[in-house]
Amino acid sequence: MAVSANIPGPNTARSDELFARAALAVPGGVNSPVRAFSAVGGTPRFISEASGCTLTDVDGNQYVDLVCSWGPMILGHAHPAVVDAVRSAALGGLSFGAPTVGEIELAEEIIDRVDPVARVRLVNSGTEATMSAVRLARGFTGRSKIVKFSGCYHGHVDALLADAGSGVATLGLPTSPGVTGAAAHDTLVLPYNDLAAVEAAFAEHGDDIAAVITEAAAGNMGAVAPQPGFNEGLRAVTARHGALLIMDEVMTGFRVSPAGFYGVDGVAGDLYTFGKVMSGGLPAAAFGGRTDIMEHLAPTGPVYQAGTLSGNPVAVAAGLATLRNATAEVYERLDVNADRLAGLVSDALAEASVAHQVQKAGNLVSFAFTESADPLTDYAGVQASQTWRFAPFFHALLERGVYPPPSAFEAWFVSAALDDAAFSKIAEALPAAAAAAAAAVAPGEGDR
Ligand SMILES: *Cc1c(COP(=O)(O)O)cnc(C)c1O
Repeated sequence: MAVSANIPGPNTARSDELFARAALAVPGGVNSPVRAFSAVGGTPRFISEASGCTLTDVDGNQYVDLVCSWGPMILGHAHPAVVDAVRSAALGGLSFGAPTVGEIELAEEIIDRVDPVARVRLVNSGTEATMSAVRLARGFTGRSKIVKFSGCYHGHVDALLADAGSGVATLGLPTSPGVTGAAAHDTLVLPYNDLAAVEAAFAEHGDDIAAVITEAAAGNMGAVAPQPGFNEGLRAVTARHGALLIMDEVMTGFRVSPAGFYGVDGVAGDLYTFGKVMSGGLPAAAFGGRTDIMEHLAPTGPVYQAGTLSGNPVAVAAGLATLRNATAEVYERLDVNADRLAGLVSDALAEASVAHQVQKAGNLVSFAFTESADPLTDYAGVQASQTWRFAPFFHALLERGVYPPPSAFEAWFVSAALDDAAFSKIAEALPAAAAAAAAAVAPGEGDR
């Protein structure tokens, strides 16, 4: 296949300049590590504005957005109904530190959508949601240990920063300095999709395990769906041992179906964590679940949890407007768009003879470069794939106006705003990207 090797890259002069300036004010120039492009090299694009499925950077380059702020923007950027809701909320005052109607409405919207959730507490980030859910699980059961799965990410909670996938994987930190042995001591890390390992952990520590926390479908080691029976098995073993099942739906919630992954597999957790989509793009998240457990929270119960800006009226307005405009048609479009994207990428890779697997979990999609015929079901499998093909693949897309996640360990996020023009741009960019992936050289082999 002809590779157009000499396409001049987009002008990134202003992003280059801003990245250098940012590094003198902000560690690494970014406020969340994956934004720095460490895994793929090059200069991160500074975004000046976004609308629908299009990002515009400070040099005026435009990109089809396949990251969607890492999940939230299912309706596309600057959706008029969401922007209107935010504007009118802001005009009414930014924060009161007292209850508002919107908080009830957002909690009710979540409760209506996800059957096992009867009570909801709003917080400011997914990290805060999982941290609070773990504290509540420990407070409710009077037990200390938490089971988590390798490659699952639950935010940067100390006790959950062991083998945490994506950002952590990309940076090659098995865990993080600054997390004390004491904080990690009560965390048992097991391979994802390995029920036998879970059974064994419960056989040994059953009386000490407060909860199993899992991504309802894993999306932070690329998309890795729970194998048939895995979530059901977690439900059964935790119930048998009096432990709680925490379903982390921060990524999957309100994206993969109106009820998140619960709407896909119907396995009920005791506690849930949400963020991303329900925030509408402003800082908001939530945890919720069974009434008897949630009522253990202050002020009705003894487990302390609080937040100056929790339930912020502007963030709540953005979340509510997003959920209310996420109609059945939107969910259908997300599924169709995810399939269309997966098909285009897979066809282009096949055309260029790049061995790969399409990884899907609901409408989360990622692509693993691998010769293996067996599905990749855990973190070790994903790590063993040819991740060195990803950087050239990524940059070829970016240069041609397509913005995929800048790491092989991240899911690709579609929005309902992707249109035929966007898919044409993706289709036009893919042959060169697939050729770049095909031409990639494994580390160490280049010097021979
Ligand atoms: C993004 C994410 C989090 C953390 O949410 P933040 O808002 O980034 O703190 C937690 N769990 C999962 C599954 C996530 O994808």
